Amino acid sequence: MNYRHLGRAGIQVSELSFGSWVTFHTQAGIDSTVEMMTAAYDAGVNFFDNAEGYAGGKSEEVMGAALKRLGWRRGSYLVSTKLFWGLHEGPNEQNTLNRKYLLESIDGSLARLGMDYVDLLYCHRADPTTPIEETVWAMHNIIERGKALYWGTSEWEAADIVTAIEIAERHHLHKPVVEQPVYNLFDRHRFGADYDRLYKEFGYGSTTWSPLASGLLTGKYKAGIPSDSRGALEGYGWLQEQLTDADRLAKVAALEPIARDMGASLAQFSLAWCLQNPHVSSVLTGASRVEQVRENMKAIAFIDSFTPDVMQAIDKVFE
Ligand code: NDP
Repeated sequence: MNYRHLGRAGIQVSELSFGSWVTFHTQAGIDSTVEMMTAAYDAGVNFFDNAEGYAGGKSEEVMGAALKRLGWRRGSYLVSTKLFWGLHEGPNEQNTLNRKYLLESIDGSLARLGMDYVDLLYCHRADPTTPIEETVWAMHNIIERGKALYWGTSEWEAADIVTAIEIAERHHLHKPVVEQPVYNLFDRHRFGADYDRLYKEFGYGSTTWSPLASGLLTGKYKAGIPSDSRGALEGYGWLQEQLTDADRLAKVAALEPIARDMGASLAQFSLAWCLQNPHVSSVLTGASRVEQVRENMKAIAFIDSFTPDVMQAIDKVFE
């Protein structure tokens, strides 16, 4: 495993990291989580991603219990969480980045994770109803209180990120250092175009999500939705349209021979494609079982296989 700086920040993250969305609590209990996190850690993963909103807080509890059982040295890994959606109904506690919500919610996340601090704390979405200045101050205060080491954004507009950085610089506050955007062969516009300035001008880091488009880029949805897949889970009906879209499936089929020529599985090929972009600090992988983790971790062997010919062949599929 190689490690990349989180943009210009001093901290380094493994090229492949491991996240808990959908899987922890819903598909994986503590035993299975311990097994998957161990496989990732043994392969060199040093960054584990979570969010307050995943499984209504249960995902943080499962990761916290797994880490307690694993007993790894705290300095050897990074944990993140993300705030925005909220766990309670009420005007100040949902879909917000107001000061009260942020300062209270971080304590809830830390209690569920069983930790004194998280390494990275993300604003899970932008909140157009709270002044960015209020959010920047709150995130700064959380860091000053020792509850997070770095903070970042997820799916914010580039202009809002620049505003947040400029406010922080003006007041000598802790700046956001990392964005968490979607990035995969199908969804790449924002990462590839909108955020370009952030990486080049501000040295912003990136931990990218859904590299396999929720599993579509493994080829597993070719013959319909497997009963043991994310696409079959209750409550994820909204994903089914994307996972069974004929045009997307045709593109997946066209990618298969390119991956095969490389000697990679489609999952490994799709993960490595994300990593050939130098603006990616870490690709957040997800898995519902340990075999997937083992397969996915081998993707790093293919990062240098994306020759101009291969890139051209991929462009042809998506043109
Ligand atoms: P992927 O797009 O890679 O999807 C992962 C899912 O695909 C797995 O849970 C599994 O689902 C299936 N899969 C993975 N590997 C294989 C394999 N080798 N063979 C067959 N199936 C496979 O990533 P996620 O969508 O899970 O996102 C990764 C992480 O990114 C999340 O855990 C989270 O930390 C973060 N994230 C952040 C968001 C944000 O808004 N900031 C939003 C979404 C994710 P199954 O077995 O059930 O089919």
